[in-house]
Amino acid sequence: MITAVLTIDDIASKNTPAIVDYLREKDIQAVMFAVAEWAEANYEEAVYTVKNGMILGNHSATHPSFSQISLEEGVREIERCEETLARIYRDAGVERVYRPFRFPYGDKGGANKAALQQYLKEQGFSKLRDTQIPYPWWKQTGLDKDIDTLWTYDFEEYRIRQGSDFTAEDAMRKIHRTDAGVSAPLLADGGSHILLLHAHDETDAMFPGYYKAFIEELLENGVTFTRPSFL
Ligand SMILES: [Zn+2]
Repeated sequence: MITAVLTIDDIASKNTPAIVDYLREKDIQAVMFAVAEWAEANYEEAVYTVKNGMILGNHSATHPSFSQISLEEGVREIERCEETLARIYRDAGVERVYRPFRFPYGDKGGANKAALQQYLKEQGFSKLRDTQIPYPWWKQTGLDKDIDTLWTYDFEEYRIRQGSDFTAEDAMRKIHRTDAGVSAPLLADGGSHILLLHAHDETDAMFPGYYKAFIEELLENGVTFTRPSFL
């Protein structure tokens, strides 16, 4: 048995509704993380995610590296995105129940890490359930204590671009890797993952329907997608 929760970053893009339609067809609910600036630029596409049953989370206002900005700037980034998300949910006519947060690049803020975690806790952000994750490093590195949503497996499909040495074939091959270079082999029996994908239009231009290709590959290899739940 292999289970996985799907998360999709950098909402919204022009391609976002097509991704949502595909996920609905497969009965997969994803947590989608929005960057306020990009959700404002593709506002209808952002509203579409919530109207169609996806959970929209906070991924900052402008996608900075949190270790490169001050604590005050970090808090403002999170607040600005909260304002946008509140408006998106209101315009979608959907009650906002869960408020997950993901740091851009998984950068938890360096010297401000503890203060940012405290802030997220005090503000009532939602922690994605991670008690089922079996990889020892998850607890050894304290990720089980953090409020923000990291991932166990990154498809790295954003690296597929013009002039890059990382290809669609590499991304597909990575899914099957079991060597020590992969901290959580995706298809190992007993696995339980938080999967990271992105909604980049640039990736879809390079590898049309990339998200379908990955999800089909996982489904064919016995991965069960579970609905996101929160602690
Ligand atoms: Zn991102």
